[in-house]
Amino acid sequence: RAFNFSAGPAAIPTEVLERAQKELLNWNGYGCSVMELGHRTPDFQGILDKTEANLRKLLKIPDTYKVLFMHGGASHQFSMVPMNFLAPEETANYLEMDHWSRMCIKEAQRFGNIHLQQGIRTNSEGLMELVPENEWQLDEKGKYLHFTSNETIVGVQFQEDPHTFSGKLVSDMCSDILSRPIDIEKYALIYAGAQKNIGPSGMTVVIVREDLFESFHTERVPSLFQYPYVSEKGSMPNTPPSFGIYFAGMVFEWLLENGGVEQMYKRNLEKAHLLYDYVDQSNFYHSPVAKGSRSFMNVAIQMKDRTHEERFLHEARENHLIALKGHKTFGGLRASIYNAMSLDGVKSLIRFMEQFERNVT
Ligand code: PLP
Repeated sequence: RAFNFSAGPAAIPTEVLERAQKELLNWNGYGCSVMELGHRTPDFQGILDKTEANLRKLLKIPDTYKVLFMHGGASHQFSMVPMNFLAPEETANYLEMDHWSRMCIKEAQRFGNIHLQQGIRTNSEGLMELVPENEWQLDEKGKYLHFTSNETIVGVQFQEDPHTFSGKLVSDMCSDILSRPIDIEKYALIYAGAQKNIGPSGMTVVIVREDLFESFHTERVPSLFQYPYVSEKGSMPNTPPSFGIYFAGMVFEWLLENGGVEQMYKRNLEKAHLLYDYVDQSNFYHSPVAKGSRSFMNVAIQMKDRTHEERFLHEARENHLIALKGHKTFGGLRASIYNAMSLDGVKSLIRFMEQFERNVT
C-alpha cells in the first residue's frame, strides 16, 4: 500500500482494513457481514454500545454528554447546530476562517443573526496566521461561539481552546478529533465527520451536553435533525449508518491498542515537527502558514518555483506517496498526516522531497 496523504477520505490503519476484510463475509461467526446485520438486533446494539463506550474512553467524555452517531457529513451539522440552538431573532458568534467555516456560516445565516469575527489573516510576511484572541470582538450575549479547530484546506489550527468567550463553545473538529486530548467540558457541542480520523465517510459523530436539550428550539425542526430526538432514539431514529459505526468501532479499538489519544498526540507532533523543520530549513519549499498557527494534521507546503508542482505530484505517486495535491482553492502541496500516517510515511516523504529538489536544481 502507498503512503496516503489525502485530506479526506483519508488513510485508514492497515490493521483495521485487514480486520474488516477478514470479518467482511462472516462477522463474529454470525454467518453474514455487519453490513447485512439488522440494526435492531442485539448483536448490532452490542457493536454500537461498544463503539460509544470506546469513544468515551478515548476522549474521556463525561456522562453529562451524549454521543450521537449520525448520518451524513459534517456539512449537515453546519445547519443542525443553528437549527437546534438558535431562535430566528437570536445571535451566534462565528469565527470566519477559510473554506469550511465560510460554508458553515452560510448555512447558519439562514437560521439566526450571525456575528462574524475574522479568525485568520495574512501577516506582513504574507503568511497565514490566526487572529490572536485578544483582538476578537464577540457578541457576549451570543448563544454560542462556533469555530473550526483545524482548517483542513489551508493547514491552520488552533493551538489551544478559545478561552475569552464566556458563553457556549461549539466546534467543528472534523480534521483533528482524536489526534489530541480534548477538554470536553469546555464545549457545548463538538462534531466531526468520520472520514479523517474515525473511518469511512457518511457518518458524523456529535458530542453534546445533555442539559442543553431543553433550551433547544426544535418545534419547526424535522425530527431527524433534532439532537434530543436522535439522542432519545439512541442514534437510531431510523436505519443508522451501521457499517460506518462498526468501522469506527474498529478504529477506536486500534487507537486504544496503540496508546490512545495521548500517544497519538505525541506521535502526531513528532511527525509534524519533522516535516515542518525540514520545510523551514529548505530554500526550495516553504510553509505558507506562520509558526504558532500551523496545523499538525494538514501540512500545507509550497514550492518557491511553483512550475515544478505537476512533476512533483507525478513523481511522488511513482514513489507510492499519494494525494499530495493542495486543495483547488488554495493550491500548492498538502500532506495530511492524520493518526493513520506512520512516522515512516513522513520520513519517506521527506526523503522524496530532498531527492526531488536535487533532481530539479
Ligand atoms: N469541516 C472541515 C474542517 C472539513 O475538513 C470538512 C471536509 O471534510 C468538512 C467540514 C465537510 O465535511 P463533509 O464533507 O463530511 O460534509
